[in-house]
Amino acid sequence: MIKPRETHATDFSILQQRVNDEPLVYLDNAATAQKPQAVIDALTHFYQHDNANVHRGVHTLAERATAAYEQAREKVQHFIHAPEMETVIFTKGTTDGLNLVASTYGEQQVHAGDEIVISIMEHHSNLIPWQQLAIRKHATLKYIGLTADGELDLADAARQITPRTKIVAVTHASNVLGVVNPLKQLARLAHQNGAVLVGDGAQAVPHMKVDVQDLDVDFYAFSGHKMMAPTGIGVLYGKKALLAAMPPYQFGGEMIDFVHQQSSTWTQLPWKFEAGTQNIAGSIGLGAAVDYLTAYGMDRVHEREATLVANLLPRLVAMPGVTVFGPHDPAKHTGVITFNLDGLHPHDVATALDMEGVAVRAGHHCAQPLMAALHQVATVRASLYLYNTQADVERLLTAIQETKEFFNHGSVSAK
Ligand code: PMP
Repeated sequence: MIKPRETHATDFSILQQRVNDEPLVYLDNAATAQKPQAVIDALTHFYQHDNANVHRGVHTLAERATAAYEQAREKVQHFIHAPEMETVIFTKGTTDGLNLVASTYGEQQVHAGDEIVISIMEHHSNLIPWQQLAIRKHATLKYIGLTADGELDLADAARQITPRTKIVAVTHASNVLGVVNPLKQLARLAHQNGAVLVGDGAQAVPHMKVDVQDLDVDFYAFSGHKMMAPTGIGVLYGKKALLAAMPPYQFGGEMIDFVHQQSSTWTQLPWKFEAGTQNIAGSIGLGAAVDYLTAYGMDRVHEREATLVANLLPRLVAMPGVTVFGPHDPAKHTGVITFNLDGLHPHDVATALDMEGVAVRAGHHCAQPLMAALHQVATVRASLYLYNTQADVERLLTAIQETKEFFNHGSVSAK
């Protein structure tokens, strides 16, 4: 059994470097996670031994590559508790999966006067596909707001979702506020109104146990690279009956049954949605990442992050001149923590932290409508993963304190 907590020095060699003369503390995991050696080895092994195109050849390498590709799908299926392998479609990532649903199911089902309901905390990739669909279809895009505490306002959700709603699309875990949204409850609300629930799992699948059947989501998209797999691979889960009735997303090789001069028929699920040569190595890397996370245990991942948050969040909230967005109760928080320092631009803060070897993200985090709702142009975000330690938390807090002191020593005054 792999135990990254004990062995991460060798599992994640990238973390063993110095940045600006300080040991690296990587706290930009919500943007992308580092890859364990097991994932890097799986990619190398594939290219050194098995590389071939899938589903096309009868030669030995093609059979090996196909088996590895389909095994990766099965691993993902079990990881998210999907009922059948046909319901697991490989995509480029969350953005690709959500665009797939908007361009197929959405194009088919949404008509003039219909409603699409999303939340104000959505990442642009779970916002713009619906916004543009609404524009194309003369439908209405509605937003579920936040409570004063920075959580999804469920009373508002009940108001916004109506019998005219066709699609409800909400993130499972916010990439800014660090909250987990009750997708199961939202799915029930959507279904009571005849709508489908689309979940954005980009910030959830890497960090917690996800059971798509228990959540009763109709579609659910996530990215491999945030869960230690390579970039360019992701997954869309969909209920089989819905996927079967949907038109293809892209056309070309691999997704056809028969092609005539003037018409074509489509192959069965899931390949109907996998046109062209896929990211074969990426899917195998994703399978290796699933193995790694499974061996570590998703409960342990969650516990570990929760312990770090319980230490970090209250101390950050208590720091003078620091504003923390989202709930201040660690029990309601994932490892994504977003804040600003009074009078300082988030980019200056992130640059100052980088000088201390601490990597965080500054910007609008692809959530501009949320930034507007928070009355911020940008924020700083620290985001944790299973290889982060209490020492990392201390380094972040010390670096924030030093940043405040450094700037306050000049012309910027503390509040
Ligand atoms: N949704 C959320 C909540 C995210 O955090 C991200 C990545 N920042 C995405 C969607 C988009 O993921 P990707 O860029 O991998 O498609």
